[in-house]
Amino acid sequence: MSRNIEMLANKVLQAEKISKPPINAERIAEFHFALDIEWTNFKNNDAAAQLSVSDKKIYMNESRADKFRANCGLKNFTIAHEIGHWVLHRNLVGQHSPKIEREAEKFATYLLMPEQFVRDEFAKFNSDALSDYFPVDRKVSSLAETFCVSYTAMRIRLSQWELKLIYVDKDGKIYRSKEEFLEQSGQIRLF
Ligand SMILES: [Zn+2]
Repeated sequence: MSRNIEMLANKVLQAEKISKPPINAERIAEFHFALDIEWTNFKNNDAAAQLSVSDKKIYMNESRADKFRANCGLKNFTIAHEIGHWVLHRNLVGQHSPKIEREAEKFATYLLMPEQFVRDEFAKFNSDALSDYFPVDRKVSSLAETFCVSYTAMRIRLSQWELKLIYVDKDGKIYRSKEEFLEQSGQIRLF
């Protein structure tokens, strides 16, 4: 399923001829999928956003507008997640499950942080003479900014098994290499 989700996300990027970050989820929602973004107050609901399949709209929670404004990555990822529901689940209206949420999360990850783009941007640090003096967490922050996603989203992306560009232990500490990870974390299991 992951591979299919990745292919679907890549198809959107190719169709939109997007070749470098940041990827603007709002533009993709509106221009590629004709989904309007509308800000509204949610009643009895603390969700960040909600997709209405029948209205072809992504409703954003007005009461969270300040948080979204302060964090472009949060807004971008939230919209990409709702696009994921449109692409993958629009025939499952009203259904909710952890599996469905995980799939939307994966779609957002692949849409906003495509493997090749992440590899290319990550490689730029390694061609930089100052790279060794640049702590790993600063690299993660810088990449998060480049892709307009949160620090956490980028850190998870870089440590995923397909990429393994950074190594993260269960406490969230990051290491610059597999060797350093194995030596210092005492952990054998990689993810
Ligand atoms: Zn969702």
